[in-house]
Amino acid sequence: KVIPGTASLHYEHEMGATSAGHSELGADLPAAIRDDQLFLLFQPIVTLDKDRRVLGAEALVRWAHPEHGTLAPDAFIPVAERTGLIVPLGRWVLRAALRRMAQWPADTVISINISARDLREPDFAPYVADLLAEYGIAPGRVTLEVTESMPVEPGESDAALRSLRGLGVKLALDDFGTGNSTLSLLHDVPVDEVKLDRSFTQAAPDDRITVAAGVAHLAQALSLHAVAEGVETEEQADRLRELGYRAAQGYLFARPLPAADFEALLPPAPMPAHGGSPHHSRRL
Ligand code: C2E
Ligand code: MG
Ligand code: MG
Ligand code: MG
Repeated sequence: KVIPGTASLHYEHEMGATSAGHSELGADLPAAIRDDQLFLLFQPIVTLDKDRRVLGAEALVRWAHPEHGTLAPDAFIPVAERTGLIVPLGRWVLRAALRRMAQWPADTVISINISARDLREPDFAPYVADLLAEYGIAPGRVTLEVTESMPVEPGESDAALRSLRGLGVKLALDDFGTGNSTLSLLHDVPVDEVKLDRSFTQAAPDDRITVAAGVAHLAQALSLHAVAEGVETEEQADRLRELGYRAAQGYLFARPLPAADFEALLPPAPMPAHGGSPHHSRRL
């Protein structure tokens, strides 16, 4: 069973405690990226069956700001998006996540959030390909999450998504159900997974037809993996499992954890000489 780490509770409490001005944060960001003030937490992704096996984690960035303490992404990702610093920041995240993952058992997966801006950089897919090769990571273990509300238009972004998929990397639509073009996006963008937004995970199940159920049906019809985010109660977990969700994240299972705490939940990496380990995770 997954245990919430006390260290992560500490981080979560610190988050949002300060309200540094956006322009000031923007000025501090280049140094943050250069001097490794950023760090990653890893929130377990678990199966919704009785075993609640850990399939892998979502990497979530934090900023250990020298004056303002630990900042959550909502405090600096929007600034990074506006200033273009999201591109070097995103590459820092990709490298840090894949470098860390190189130590995990070979059947463990990772999800990494990317920005629409990343997809407009012509060398984004080649950068991902180089990192996968550098760290010896099978592309199918990596899911890149794009927020559904971000504009992914035919053209450059679409080409980038197809290149990434050509590498064997998986794509997920994050915060699914909150955007305003859900259905047409699914038609146009080649994704493998939808992540039900936590507002729908947590919605009261009082209506006979709910968004969570609709997304599950849609995912099944299109052969997409459906993952629920923001699961906080056993009732939510039961209901989502009944609706057909096979994997989920949420405080019920674990908070975003420091890398070592997350890794303590994984089986030991197999000895290289013995090849793959049969005992643990499966692909989502
Ligand atoms: P997201 O990708 O949808 O990530 C899920 C967010 O929900 C995380 O917030 C996570 O800590 C939080 N969460 C997880 N379980 C629960 C739960 O049971 N209840 C509640 N109330 N919340 C839960 P976080 O870490 O603050 O990240 C916020 C957003 O910032 C992310 O939303 C993602 O869109 C963005 N983000 C995070 N890391 C990165 C990154 O490396 N790059 C980019 N471009 N965006 C990132
Ligand atoms: Mg995400
Ligand atoms: Mg998101
Ligand atoms: Mg989300």
